[in-house]
Amino acid sequence: MCGIVGYVGEKEATPVLINSLKKLEYRGYDSSGIAVINSAWNEDSSDEAIIVRKCKGAIKFLEEKIEAELVKGAINGKVGIAHTRWATHGEPSDLNAHPHTDVSGTIAVVHNGIIENYGELKAWLQSRGVVFKSQTDTEVIAHLLNYFYTQGAEGVRSENTRGDIFASVHAARQKLVGSYALGVICKDFPDRLICVRKESPLIIGLGQNENFIASDVPAVLEYTREVYFLEQDEMAVLYNDHVDLFNAYAEKVVRQPFHVDWDISSAEKGGYAHFMLKEIHEQPKALHDTLKAHLVTEKSASGGKEGKPVALSFSDEINDADFKKMIQNAKRIVITACGTAYHAGVVGKYAFEKFARLPTNVDVASEFRYRDPILDKDDVFIVVSQSGETADTLAALRLAKSRGAKIIAITNCVGSTVSRESDYVIYTLAGPEIAVASTKAYTTQLMCLYMLALCFGSERGVLSRAEFERLLTELESISDKAQNILDNKTEIQKFASKQFNKSKIFYIGRQFDSANSLESAMKLKEDSYMHCEAFAAGELKHGPIALVDKDTLVIAIATEPSLYEKLASNIIEVKSRGAATMVITSDTSGAFDSCCDSVIQIPSGESALESMLSVIPAQLFAYYCSVLRGNDPDKPRNLAKSVTVE
Ligand code: GLU
Repeated sequence: MCGIVGYVGEKEATPVLINSLKKLEYRGYDSSGIAVINSAWNEDSSDEAIIVRKCKGAIKFLEEKIEAELVKGAINGKVGIAHTRWATHGEPSDLNAHPHTDVSGTIAVVHNGIIENYGELKAWLQSRGVVFKSQTDTEVIAHLLNYFYTQGAEGVRSENTRGDIFASVHAARQKLVGSYALGVICKDFPDRLICVRKESPLIIGLGQNENFIASDVPAVLEYTREVYFLEQDEMAVLYNDHVDLFNAYAEKVVRQPFHVDWDISSAEKGGYAHFMLKEIHEQPKALHDTLKAHLVTEKSASGGKEGKPVALSFSDEINDADFKKMIQNAKRIVITACGTAYHAGVVGKYAFEKFARLPTNVDVASEFRYRDPILDKDDVFIVVSQSGETADTLAALRLAKSRGAKIIAITNCVGSTVSRESDYVIYTLAGPEIAVASTKAYTTQLMCLYMLALCFGSERGVLSRAEFERLLTELESISDKAQNILDNKTEIQKFASKQFNKSKIFYIGRQFDSANSLESAMKLKEDSYMHCEAFAAGELKHGPIALVDKDTLVIAIATEPSLYEKLASNIIEVKSRGAATMVITSDTSGAFDSCCDSVIQIPSGESALESMLSVIPAQLFAYYCSVLRGNDPDKPRNLAKSVTVE
């Protein structure tokens, strides 16, 4: 959670910091702040050596707060750090906003993560006379740094930490338990910025006579495409003309920067009212790109004209022979993830069982990690995480790895911790997803899970060659079908304008549709704040139907023809109790016309695959309800994009 940025260079830092920070507002937005080393400061002046400005609320409030000072040139400095917060410890307030400083105002720090032993450290610092200003866990870091910087202790390579900010950061981090990405500035070192990461993500952007730190790549894309992904426990010192990287033992490390090749426009709204709407519309391309990266067609096999798809290849990322061995040896699939990615995992379970006939468990990562799970070396463990930094998913991955399971990661972020720590990585080529509520990441995660399930099915001889190729052709058509749904979105908009005031909404479905209804319900909760649940349709009469009345809207998902009749009966049951009804269906025979107030048509095909398309009308419905209810669909309350804390 939260976004941090930092700048050292030849420009005035504040406008750059604010600009970069805005690109990270999706990560947290309850308060924000900046700190810059005051270039006008000297020992005799009464000015602050480090200028700190922070306030509760969105970044625009911080901008308003500092506007007059900026115009007057009262916040001048070429080295600085900034933060947009998603509070974990202490309410959102001016005082709890980051950056936090030590008592003397010598050092300022921004932090993403949680310091788990902050209570103990706070008590120790208080016993030494330190008075705390905020309720955050982060403030202990500033005072701890001050302790090492002023009192001294034996530091790195046994020099004393006194007066050495690098050694002080290195010494302080040894005392911190938990997760952190830190940006630190010190008034006595006005030419540098220090950063360190454990668990929480941090990247370094390399510019011309300027360098940056940020929680995520979009923050620096306007300035540079060359980045380092800071690895676990690494530290870095940034100057305007170079960056030094250090490992966990504070030894220098050297590596090549990573070149980011996606376009900045993919991190901007491009004419859409909101990122969420833009990202919903990017799904056809994202699905196409994700599949194309692995699909082998007759043309690419023979060098001739583009032909039908014949195989899936994961050879760019992985050694094919080892991968095939893993597939042959697999006894079970275990999929672990959180939130939307977990919902993708539930669909994945249906896919692996149907197409590969492998028993599949799906687990919420936060449950898995504390359960002493039963794992075997022939289990294939699939983790799904958009950011690749989800704390619980990462912990589950490490646990599974320690028990000998092979790990496949599905993630959207190259260089993320999940991608680095897994045996195999399949990327969702969705591009940056900025809106907090996930859309294109979900559908591309499904695409990856389907590809894997089909690949396992084909390699294990469950699917015949002809069946495999037929399913690949179906998968290839998904992107155009997604576009078709988007081209007809006005029906959903009209439906939303009639239903956005309903107090209870239920999504129901059977089989794959039941799995996809989980994510459909989640979108509505997150964005519209309407109370919404998803049930397997057959479960309705085992309890939930007691809630159905005239204030209820029931949305059925129906893509499997053999189950249309059963679902129609469920719809009639709720309709006769006063509920409004809508169906999202691939049926063209009018099977739902008499029992549904609205029928949203989606393209038909192999229902086990086409079911994934049903989420697109549901995403649009959530988006329109959110706007109609006066919410900000990109920044739903209480949520943050990348959940890097437990
Ligand atoms: N734990 C810190 C706080 O509550 C940082 C939270 C975050 O990473 O968003 O201020």
